[in-house]
Amino acid sequence: MKISIDPHSGFCFGVVKAIAAAEQALQTHHHVYCLGDIVHNNEEVCRLKKLGMDVIDLHQLQSIQHQPILIRAHGEPPSTYALAAQNHNTIIDATCTVVLHLQKQVKEGCQQMRAKNGQVVIYGKKGHAEVIGLVGQTDNTAIVISSLEEIEHLNYNAPMRLYAQTTQNLHTYKIIAEAIENKYRQHNDNYDFIWYDTICRQVSNREESLKKFAEAHDVIIFVSGAKSSNGMVLFNICLSVNANSHLVSSVDKIDKAWFSQARSAGICGATSTPLWLMEAMANHIQTIVNQQ
Ligand code: SF4
Repeated sequence: MKISIDPHSGFCFGVVKAIAAAEQALQTHHHVYCLGDIVHNNEEVCRLKKLGMDVIDLHQLQSIQHQPILIRAHGEPPSTYALAAQNHNTIIDATCTVVLHLQKQVKEGCQQMRAKNGQVVIYGKKGHAEVIGLVGQTDNTAIVISSLEEIEHLNYNAPMRLYAQTTQNLHTYKIIAEAIENKYRQHNDNYDFIWYDTICRQVSNREESLKKFAEAHDVIIFVSGAKSSNGMVLFNICLSVNANSHLVSSVDKIDKAWFSQARSAGICGATSTPLWLMEAMANHIQTIVNQQ
């Protein structure tokens, strides 16, 4: 059986930058706290833990003082920076530049909407770290929607600025934005609604090549942590064109029965999946297939 790794899968530049910042900080400080998992991938988190990185949550941050604190690519709300500063911690800010730009846009949109009694709406996953960071730019006034159905509850008599979490599906986001625009048209000719395409192309540009890769193999092994938003988006793309697609987080989740009729297996992953893990999957699959 032929096994290939998708050349377009693996860390995006935001994650590469965050991991480089973590490794550099660990060389300088030997021990660093990271607010949340640096990537939604347990294997990579464990590797960095062995080098001296401890993952903490916001509650734990309240009692940590005079320590280096790493902010991961997803970013944080302003209240986190204030808390870290109050406790005299040193911030190592690895917020992705794409997320930083979006935070700035949301903040500006909020100022505009405040002056017009309007609303800021964010299409994203409720409770996701990036979304919490975005809502924080609006003093927690932004409305988060996660589906087309939820647009029914928005106020079409007031202005609106719409943004999306960077890793959402571009096609679905466009459908939602157009549906909102149609609602405004039905309510008022002079509506004030602007939506911004804030989807990161590191995810959306992978969709077409991933589809072709998934179609070209008998079995697809999609390597991703269960908490990765872009992992779910990209895995569902594989599944839409290849029913023999399996989402796995580590080599022990592989079932050798998946390959019994296969002539080819393709290994791919999310923007938070390290190349070394996909290579480990390929070696493991080769070993179990040779034993069959
Ligand atoms: S997916 Fe895009 S926005 Fe998210 S960390 Fe990677 S480069 Fe940044």
